[in-house]
Amino acid sequence: MLEIDLPLLSPSARAALDALSTAAVVIRDGAVQWANLAAANAGVTEDLGTSRLARALVDSGIAEEAVTAGGRRRRRIGLPTDAAFLDVDVTAAVILDRPDSVLVSFVPPTTGEDTTDEVRSRLEAMLEHTTGIITVLDHEGRIKFSNGNGGLLTGMRGTDANGALAVDFIHPDDIDTAANALAAAMSDSGPQPPVEIRIRFADGQWHDMSASTNNLLDTPGIEGIVVSLHDITERKIAERRLSSLIANLSDVIVVLDREYQVTFASESISSIIDAPADTNLGMNAFNDIHPEDLESAAAALDAAVSAGMGATERIELRLEQRPGSDRWRWVEATIVNLLDDPAVEGLVVTLRDITDARHAGDRLRVAYERERANAERLAELDRLKDDFLATVSHELRTPLAAIIGFVELLRTGGLPPDVASDLLDRVAKSGSEMRTMIENVLDFSAIEAHRVAVRLIPISVAESVAGAISSTGAQLDRHVVVTECDDDVVIADRHGLGHVIRNLLTNAAKYSEAGTTITIRSRRHGPAVSIEVVDEGIGIDPSDQPLVFERFFRAQPATFTARGTGVGLSIASRYVDLMGGTIDVRSVPGRGSVFTVTLPAGG
Ligand code: ADP
Repeated sequence: MLEIDLPLLSPSARAALDALSTAAVVIRDGAVQWANLAAANAGVTEDLGTSRLARALVDSGIAEEAVTAGGRRRRRIGLPTDAAFLDVDVTAAVILDRPDSVLVSFVPPTTGEDTTDEVRSRLEAMLEHTTGIITVLDHEGRIKFSNGNGGLLTGMRGTDANGALAVDFIHPDDIDTAANALAAAMSDSGPQPPVEIRIRFADGQWHDMSASTNNLLDTPGIEGIVVSLHDITERKIAERRLSSLIANLSDVIVVLDREYQVTFASESISSIIDAPADTNLGMNAFNDIHPEDLESAAAALDAAVSAGMGATERIELRLEQRPGSDRWRWVEATIVNLLDDPAVEGLVVTLRDITDARHAGDRLRVAYERERANAERLAELDRLKDDFLATVSHELRTPLAAIIGFVELLRTGGLPPDVASDLLDRVAKSGSEMRTMIENVLDFSAIEAHRVAVRLIPISVAESVAGAISSTGAQLDRHVVVTECDDDVVIADRHGLGHVIRNLLTNAAKYSEAGTTITIRSRRHGPAVSIEVVDEGIGIDPSDQPLVFERFFRAQPATFTARGTGVGLSIASRYVDLMGGTIDVRSVPGRGSVFTVTLPAGG
C-alpha cells in the first residue's frame, strides 16, 4: 500500500477509509499518492503505483476535471480487470483545504457480470501463474488447453497441446486409475479426491503426479474437466526408500489408529505371524495377542495415548503365529504415540521377536534355579553331616566312657560276683550299642555314596530274626522279646535284611520302658510277606511319623530318652527300597509303635 505524508488525512480518517468496501485513492500531481485497503486489494498498489488500475484512474483525467470544476466529478470509466476493461462508476472529490489533492472512489470491478470469454481469458491468465500443471480436458479426454506448465508434458507451449489425448501421457499401469478418476469426474460435477498416477513428460521421464479433477463441463467459458497435476516424484521416491527400508528392517512396524485398528504393517511381520502383511489391515490389534497379555497390552496402549504426542511405552507380549495354532512368539513392543503427527496419525508400534532370547533366558533361569537348589541341598547336607559327625562322636564317647569305667572297676578286683556280672553286662550292652552305631555310620556313608549293592536271595524270616536278636544281644536284655515268625521266606539281601530288623529291634528297645514286650512277627499276604516289629513304648507323634525315615531326623522326646544318630531308619528304608519292598509306621504316642516291612515272598 502506498503511504505518503498526507497531513490532511488524519490517521482516523485513513482508518475510516480502510474500513470501506469502496475503493478510495488520493490522486495528486498526476499520480496515486495513497490507496485504502479495498483499492489496494483491487490492484491499485501493484507495481508501486504504476499498476494498470492506478494508471487507468490517473489517465482518465477525472482528478484534474474535479480540480478544474473546483469540487466533485462523477462518470463511468473503463477500468482493467484480470481479463478485460469494465466500465465502472468513479467519483472524484477535491479534498477540503488541499485543492491539488483529489479523493477518487469507485466500487472495484467484479467478475459478477463477466462474459464467458472474459472468464476464460482470466482463467488462462490465472493458470499461467500457477506452479502445477493445469489442463482442461473435453468430455472425450482431449486436452482443450493447459497452463504454461502444460509444456512440460507436450514440449510445446502449454496452450499448443490442444487436442492431444490425455491418456497418451499416462503410464500403462495407471491408465485404469486415471480412467476411473475421469469417469468419476464426468459423472459428478465439482472437485474429486486426488489420485496418484505416473505421467511421462516431454523429456521422456516418468513423473509421479497427484491428479485432482474438477468437473466444470457446465461452466460457460470452460466446459471441461479441469485437471490439476502436482509433481510428487520426490515424495514418492522418499516413500519408496522408506518402505524398502522398513521392509528390510528386521524389526516389524505396525501402525494403529485411535481405535487400535491396524492401518499399516510392514512386510517383515510375516516373520512373526504366518500371514501376508496386508491381511492385518483393519484388524483389531488385540486379535493375535495372548489372552494373558491382553490386559498389559491395553494398558500400555492407553498409557501411550493419554501421555500424548511422542510418548513411548515398552512391553513384552505373546502373538499367535497363526489364528488357532496355539503357537506363540514372544515380542518386545515399543509404542510411540504419533497420533497428532499429521504425517503419521497413528501409534507406531515396533515389534522385535524375542522368543529365542526369552527361551534362552527361561532355560538359563531353570538351570540357575536347579544349581541354586543343588547348592542349597549340598550346603544343607554339609550342615547335616557336621551335625551328624558331632552327634556320632558324642554318642560314641558315652558308651566308650562307660566301658572304660566299668573295666577299670572290674580290674581293681574284689567285687562281689553279682556286681561284677552286672558290670560285665553293662560293658557288653555299651559295646553292642557302639557296634550298632558304628555299623550305622559305615552303612550310611556307603549308601550315601551309592556303594551298596544288594544280592537278592530267598531268606527265611525266622532265621534272619534270630540272627538279628542274637547280634543285638545286650540291647534287648531288659525287654521281653516275642517272635511269631512261621516259615515265611522273603527275597532279600542277607546283610540288608539283618540290618533292617536289627535297627527296628534296637529302636523298639531304646524307645520303650524296660520290662515291656517287643513282638516281631511275619505274615504272608499273597506275593508279599510283612514283618512287623511292635513295641509298647513312647510312640511317635502323628506329625513326626512321616519324617522318621528322613536322614538325621530325631523326634523331640527321643532325644531325651535314648542315644541315637538319626540315620538308622533312613538306612533301613534305603535297604528296603533296594530290595524292592516298603516300610511304614503306625504309632500312638504313649501306647507304642508298629514298624512294618513288606518284601516280596520267596518260594
Ligand atoms: P535314632 O538313632 O535317633 O534312633 P532312627 O533313624 O533310628 O534314629 O530313628 C529316627 C527317630 O524316629 C528316632 O530319633 C525317634 O524319634 C523315632 N523312632 C524310631 N523308632 C521309634 C520307636 N520304636 N518308638 C518311638 N520313636 C521311634
